[in-house]
Amino acid sequence: MTPCGSGGQDALIQERKFKMIKPLLQGLALTLKYFIRPSQVVTMQYPEERWTPYPRFRGLHELQRDQNGKEKCVACGLCSTVCPSECIHIVSAENAQGERYSEVYEIDMLRCIFCGYCQEVCPEDAIFLKQEYELASSEGTGFIYGKERLLAPLKKHK
Ligand code: SF4
Ligand code: SF4
Repeated sequence: MTPCGSGGQDALIQERKFKMIKPLLQGLALTLKYFIRPSQVVTMQYPEERWTPYPRFRGLHELQRDQNGKEKCVACGLCSTVCPSECIHIVSAENAQGERYSEVYEIDMLRCIFCGYCQEVCPEDAIFLKQEYELASSEGTGFIYGKERLLAPLKKHK
């Protein structure tokens, strides 16, 4: 290799080092800036601090009851038909008065994309996507939510 070629290579290495060091210093300066001014930090200290969802946020579903506490869902199956993820499983049944209700209503939360179609299509206003967003599990199981988790508690309607 000629001396000229070696010099060119050195210059290239220097240029690359500078390109690496500049953003590193910029990052450190940013860290230092927020270190000495903690009031400007925008990172949320979860779980001590909770995010407040905006009004149209679509989170966990809730099956609704009427004013008498009766489940609104009549197991028509429209929500499971329209669901693009095919993650709603319903088994219908009839009560003593011959009224249909969902004996089983399950949503696979790992497949749900929270599009809200189920809410939009429901003729009974029986399902709403609420503001709850903490759906994670540390065990990797329990993501099929049944009525025990989806149905609105009775006390809300007293
Ligand atoms: S929000 Fe969308 S993907 Fe989730 S259950 Fe409803 S229709 Fe299916
Ligand atoms: S939630 Fe609504 S659309 Fe779905 S089965 Fe029940 S009544 Fe029908």
